[in-house]
Amino acid sequence: MPGVKSTHSEKLLAALMRGEIESITPKIGSHISYPQVEALLKVNTEKALQILEELWEEGYLHKTFHSTVYSCPICGTSSIRPKVVCPKCRSEDIERVELVEHLGQGHIDIEERFLKDGEYVCPVCNKPLKLIGVDYRKPGHAYLCANCKAISPEPLTLWTCNPSGHVFSLEEARSTKVYSYSLNHDRIEELSKNGEVFFPGDVYQKIEQYLSEESSTPIEYIQEVSEVFQKRGYKVENHKTIEDPAGGKGVVAVYAKKPPDSVTVVNFLTGTEDPTGVIDRFANLRRSVRATRGILIVPHQLDQELIDYAKRKRITVIDGVDIYDAIEKLELLLDINEFLVEESPIS
Ligand SMILES: [Zn+2]
Ligand SMILES: [Zn+2]
Ligand SMILES: [Zn+2]
Repeated sequence: MPGVKSTHSEKLLAALMRGEIESITPKIGSHISYPQVEALLKVNTEKALQILEELWEEGYLHKTFHSTVYSCPICGTSSIRPKVVCPKCRSEDIERVELVEHLGQGHIDIEERFLKDGEYVCPVCNKPLKLIGVDYRKPGHAYLCANCKAISPEPLTLWTCNPSGHVFSLEEARSTKVYSYSLNHDRIEELSKNGEVFFPGDVYQKIEQYLSEESSTPIEYIQEVSEVFQKRGYKVENHKTIEDPAGGKGVVAVYAKKPPDSVTVVNFLTGTEDPTGVIDRFANLRRSVRATRGILIVPHQLDQELIDYAKRKRITVIDGVDIYDAIEKLELLLDINEFLVEESPIS
């Protein structure tokens, strides 16, 4: 039985193969996350990244550089902003100002100090300056600190984190390279050609089988239902192929066995298939494996007539407004049965 790790991997690969997720890109907010993966697998970022890295190492995914993210070395947040300060006193109260130079004298200061009643007057020698390029020039800009009055050619650029105001230099910041991931179609194709086993439990075969089936049952439904049985001590097989006495073959989505001899088979009625056809085939499969119970899960409301029809064929229909509703009813049914006397297999 596949462990938790491979179940997550399977689910993710299935979503990629079906195109439900096109490519996996990181979201860079106050922390790096992989929302698509986290939502699909109900895991945290750390776990999501671990699964992605494993799948990449095993060759199932491509990995491409996305960006380098800088974060606070103290609290780890990547919600940071530059803090441009005076190199002398580290005040942020600085301003970019224009410089003026009294030519030939080497007197240089900020423009403001040259201005007297709208005219330029050298603040050192008090000489009026008339012509740019002749008696004065503007050699560029500098930074004036309102706090300590220092004039610096360049400010000092530090960084600060928004949540806590920790201050650090770029060199001190933590830097993390983050990547995007996508399905390695070549590898998948190659594996399928060689008939290699994909994961413990032959997941690729299962997914391929699932994809090739006409049925539109999402693999998540099957996994959710499997978990319901597993939680109650059943041994579960998914997509079990069953040969019926007439010589045909059929597949049950979930085959759940509980010692000593209770067997429940589950199929789904999800798509536009002919319901009576599905019920007939499923009833035959249930008889072939002499299953105690045959449960048909319908993630929408089914006509009473069809429910009765299934009942006559010894198939229990569990329908609901959606899959979650139906699964809840399934859990209830299983829990109620725990209290009843041990069922004897029907034949
Ligand atoms: Zn911080
Ligand atoms: Zn001067
Ligand atoms: Zn200063």
